[in-house]
Amino acid sequence: MEASRRRTQHGANGKDSEQGEQPAQWGRAWEVDWFSLASVIGLLCFAPFIVFYFVMACDQYQCSVSQPLLELFRGETTLLSIWARAPSFTWSAAKIYAAWVGFQVFLYMCVPDVTHKFIPGYVGGVQDGARTPAGLINKYEINGLQCWLITHALWYANAQHFHWFSPTIIFDNWIPLMWCTNILGYAVSSFAFAKAYLFPTNSEDCKFTGNIFYNYMMGIEFNPRVGKWFDFKLFFNGRPGIVAWTLINLSYMAKQQELYGHVTNSMILVNVLQAIYVLDFFWNEAWYLKTIDICHDHFGWYLGWGDCVWLPYLYTLQGLYLVYHPVQLSNAHALAVLLLGLVGYYIFRSTNHQKDLFRRTEGSCSIWGRKPAHIDCSYRSADGGVHHSKLMTSGFWGVARHLNYTGDLMGSLAYCAACGFGHVLPYFYIIYMTILLVHRCVRDEHRCGSKYGKDWKRYTDAVPYRLIPGVF
Ligand code: NDP
Repeated sequence: MEASRRRTQHGANGKDSEQGEQPAQWGRAWEVDWFSLASVIGLLCFAPFIVFYFVMACDQYQCSVSQPLLELFRGETTLLSIWARAPSFTWSAAKIYAAWVGFQVFLYMCVPDVTHKFIPGYVGGVQDGARTPAGLINKYEINGLQCWLITHALWYANAQHFHWFSPTIIFDNWIPLMWCTNILGYAVSSFAFAKAYLFPTNSEDCKFTGNIFYNYMMGIEFNPRVGKWFDFKLFFNGRPGIVAWTLINLSYMAKQQELYGHVTNSMILVNVLQAIYVLDFFWNEAWYLKTIDICHDHFGWYLGWGDCVWLPYLYTLQGLYLVYHPVQLSNAHALAVLLLGLVGYYIFRSTNHQKDLFRRTEGSCSIWGRKPAHIDCSYRSADGGVHHSKLMTSGFWGVARHLNYTGDLMGSLAYCAACGFGHVLPYFYIIYMTILLVHRCVRDEHRCGSKYGKDWKRYTDAVPYRLIPGVF
């Protein structure tokens, strides 16, 4: 594996650290409390049903979330009849999905990035990841933008010229495809789980909690790989799920056109705002190597199944809803949604950019026209070494401790508000993102508190609010 070893004293059993110091907390827990365990088992059992419930509610109940429950309560339907009405697995969907995933693997593995050579400012090609807890720095082939461009160019060419398949193909096979995504999600999570025991990529970066459910869900291996370059986290985190996101929306748009003879402004808004978010992800793919997903989370069911099933099915609920309810917004409503989405995106991107710039230049940069203020911090890594870092208190990072999440939430709310106020189903996304990002914020701050100790306290005293100044 193309990784440079910096420190190797940290064993997989977690016992180390000179002078008996508490090691810095990297990644997820070594020990599992009962609440985490209950949450893990609950999610393992219920998350697939949540996905099924929403998709089924659209297919059978015009996207009403309450109707199936009411009918069940009144005895007008049964779980078995709901299940029997749901489209089942089909081999044609399996072939579509196999071709899709195979194509994404081919693009990821066999087409090295060339876009960075002619798109100014874009960082692609071979890049270093962040240092892992065991001290490795993995190399990654960053070619997500290129994969996205090739995939969408082919989609466009097919829709406009070749007509090999209908652009509504994704919508038309939506539930049969869901079974296929589940098969892949469970297969990849189970493979990663077994691989961690049998042939881990780097055993020093494995974490075994002793609880099998927790290990399966939250992952054991930090950066599982097959061969030199097939990195599970980078592949499954970005593709096939996020490349598919915009194609799924385009398929919904084509379906609206087919069903109603026109496309609504709400559908265009959802497509445009989510495409900005997806393109931002791929434009900044090298930067994402330094985010929590890649830097701190291990690869288990949470990422494997989540990227294959949860993300493509639940992040695209707005477009699905608009196929069943072609909402045409008033100009004022559409403008308000657009503004909310763009302002949210601006805050999200600028906040992330400010931290990236600050960290890359070690504070020798300009934030809002002046040299950024910061708090000097130190922490001890797992091998006992003392390191230094800086926490910025200027720009958006001086307004609140996680304004990037706030901007993300504003954008998420805009997607939902684009669907009008007729049903709660499209608002699932903002509810979910609020839970995800608040939990992430608390998780991250717990980790930072353990890592920086009293220096983190100085930072939280200087910047007292997390997401909304004066409120939270
Ligand atoms: P951040 O980019 O906010 O990174 C948090 C880390 O930044 C901390 O652990 C700390 O790391 C460092 N840090 C914290 N405060 C400061 C500061 N004041 N100055 C300098 N460094 C600081 O978190 P994420 O990686 O979670 O998020 C990245 C983006 O991805 C966010 O915009 C988020 O909204 C988005 N996201 C979207 C998701 C989705 O499903 N749509 C899911 C998850 C994230 P260190 O240890 O280095 O000090």
